[in-house]
Amino acid sequence: MDSRVQVATFVSLLSLAIAGHVYLRRDREAVHRAFAAFSIGVAFLQATTVLHALTKSAVWLRAGSMATVGVALLAMRFFRAFVRDEAARTRWLGGVATLAALGVLVLLATPLHDHIVTRAAVVAFVLLSFYATLTTLHRSRLATRSRREAERIRFLTLTGAVAGALTLADYLPSIGDFDVGAVAPVFLIGFLYMLSQAVVRDRILDLYDLAGRAGVLTVLALVLATTLFIISRITGTRSFAHAFVAALVVLLLLDPLRNGVERWIHRLLFLDRHQFELALRSARGRISGAIEPAVVSQIAIQALETSERVTDAAIWFVTADRRGFGLAAHFGPAPPARLEPLAIRGLLDRVQREHALVYETLERELERQRRRGEDRDAETVFEILKNMEAMHASVVIAIVAEDREPIGILAVRDERVRDAFAMDEVQHLVSLSAAIGAAFTRSVEHRAAKERDRLIALGEMAAGLAHEIRNPLGAIRATAQLLGDPNTSASEREFLDIIVDEADRLNRVVGSFLDYARPSTNDETSCDPVSTLERTVKLLEAEPLARGPVLSLEVERNVPHVSMDAEKLRQVVWNLARNALEALDGAGELRIRVANSAPLVGEPANRDWVEITVSDTGPGVAEAVLPHLFVPFVTTKVRGTGLGLAMSQRLVTSAGGRIDVRTSQGRGAEFAIRLPAVQSVAGEDASGTTRTR
Ligand code: ADP
Repeated sequence: MDSRVQVATFVSLLSLAIAGHVYLRRDREAVHRAFAAFSIGVAFLQATTVLHALTKSAVWLRAGSMATVGVALLAMRFFRAFVRDEAARTRWLGGVATLAALGVLVLLATPLHDHIVTRAAVVAFVLLSFYATLTTLHRSRLATRSRREAERIRFLTLTGAVAGALTLADYLPSIGDFDVGAVAPVFLIGFLYMLSQAVVRDRILDLYDLAGRAGVLTVLALVLATTLFIISRITGTRSFAHAFVAALVVLLLLDPLRNGVERWIHRLLFLDRHQFELALRSARGRISGAIEPAVVSQIAIQALETSERVTDAAIWFVTADRRGFGLAAHFGPAPPARLEPLAIRGLLDRVQREHALVYETLERELERQRRRGEDRDAETVFEILKNMEAMHASVVIAIVAEDREPIGILAVRDERVRDAFAMDEVQHLVSLSAAIGAAFTRSVEHRAAKERDRLIALGEMAAGLAHEIRNPLGAIRATAQLLGDPNTSASEREFLDIIVDEADRLNRVVGSFLDYARPSTNDETSCDPVSTLERTVKLLEAEPLARGPVLSLEVERNVPHVSMDAEKLRQVVWNLARNALEALDGAGELRIRVANSAPLVGEPANRDWVEITVSDTGPGVAEAVLPHLFVPFVTTKVRGTGLGLAMSQRLVTSAGGRIDVRTSQGRGAEFAIRLPAVQSVAGEDASGTTRTR
């Protein structure tokens, strides 16, 4: 068997295998079937070469001609399906081509099969269908808005033309011992393989990398073949030593050549991708030196803007209350200033799982799901697509902190084209978002460390203050009381009372301060929040301040125990409720509610949570204190210590929970305590109740 026949056998078998690989897909579509038919045609064409060589029967020559016509027709149909060209003109042309093919096949079946007219008809048909295929590709490349689609078609046209041209090499004479004709089927199988990948993988752009690598290998193979050829020409003989020398030459050249060719191919094919990568890499470098989230997001957005590869970019970070994502930086038309986790739940889940979501990939998924009648899944994907449109995004990437906690979202889009980003470009965006996540983590740690230092200093000061102030204070108070006797005038008695009152107040401040500064340990005990709240409300009702306002306690059904000591929880709710009563100033409403709650962004999803809210209809938290609400000594009250909220937050955080505040000027304030649930349902009668007084 000569080398041509061997190659044809391999190519025939491989084409069949490739056809099977594409045809046996689970989600087979028209384009897969068309490709499989084309591949089988190629396999058959190669098989006729083999059979002719083996049997020397002219029947196989004729079958070969028939197969050539068939392959040309199948190629046309496949490419049409591939670019989804369904224009009436193309269909009409397709019909004409089928008729023409039938005519030629009939001619081949008659005794006229060897006539010059028949041969000319075969050649004309092949050339015309080649031309028709190329124009179909060209037209759809011009028509598409999608960058990826245009590149995909350009790639196909290029490689298809090379494969076609090489097939012509069959008719070229041999160069020395080197049979160019044998190369053609090898390229053909390479082309078929790439096509199969283009059909089964959505992302053809990645095939450029494949093409790049194939280009490098081809150049190296050519160098090897040429060296060998030159040596054997010069010496006039062929030996193992020559092959060895040729191989050595290639190995010596390998590295510089590979680098050069790769660089050249990269520049030629992927210039804008290369620049995009460089821009993002330099942004990552700058981000690694930044700490403030605002600066970090600005660097990232600026890099995206200057890369000129995107028309919209935005970064949202989780808000301080963890109830949503706030816009941190953007460029392009303004995207939503806030993203509500509930509204983008599907998107969040999916982007956390997959790191990156690409609009067009989801669109194709939706199309497939709808075709298969998977309505529920299709609904979710449809929602995600709608969210992405609202966010001006064609790629959405999760920003996660180093402990995997989701802290933000990065969205980009190139409005000018669809399918704007190749897989490796999406990967560069993922790396950028990882850098942002790391910087965000550093900033939180930075703040936590600063807060720790401040608390330590405060604690030490508090211990000193306790001794310095409390003892003389006791003496002052006692002395003031002693000074009062039956002869003291009313005005003098008033002054003495002021001294005693102020001494008491100072004592309270110092006491609270000491409480705050004392390291709080969570004793891991749990409590029933319902009964704790009921007791606290009873105590509150006895307060003179509670005389005017309406007090209510709402309890949801089946509220579980929480991981906090009852006394500490009582103290926290007491602080919040007293603040509310003070804000109400004798009129309005104070509502305390306890309810089950789903985990918020960043809270472990496998735990249940309990939320206790204390809300009032007072004037709301003053804007000036809002940013420092939980900072010790921040108060707007004449007799306030500014330690209630700071203390409460400390107690709750050390129990694994958090306190958030929502307030609006003139309409009231709501403080929400969130605590992790422990697994048992509180209250013997776990029914929901509302008590109002
Ligand atoms: P203090 O009550 O001693 O001032 P806190 O830490 O409890 O200390 O409160 C700090 C400040 O927060 C208060 O001075 C007040 O301005 C504001 N604040 C707290 N709760 C409310 C509320 N329910 N409505 C309006 N403002 C509030």
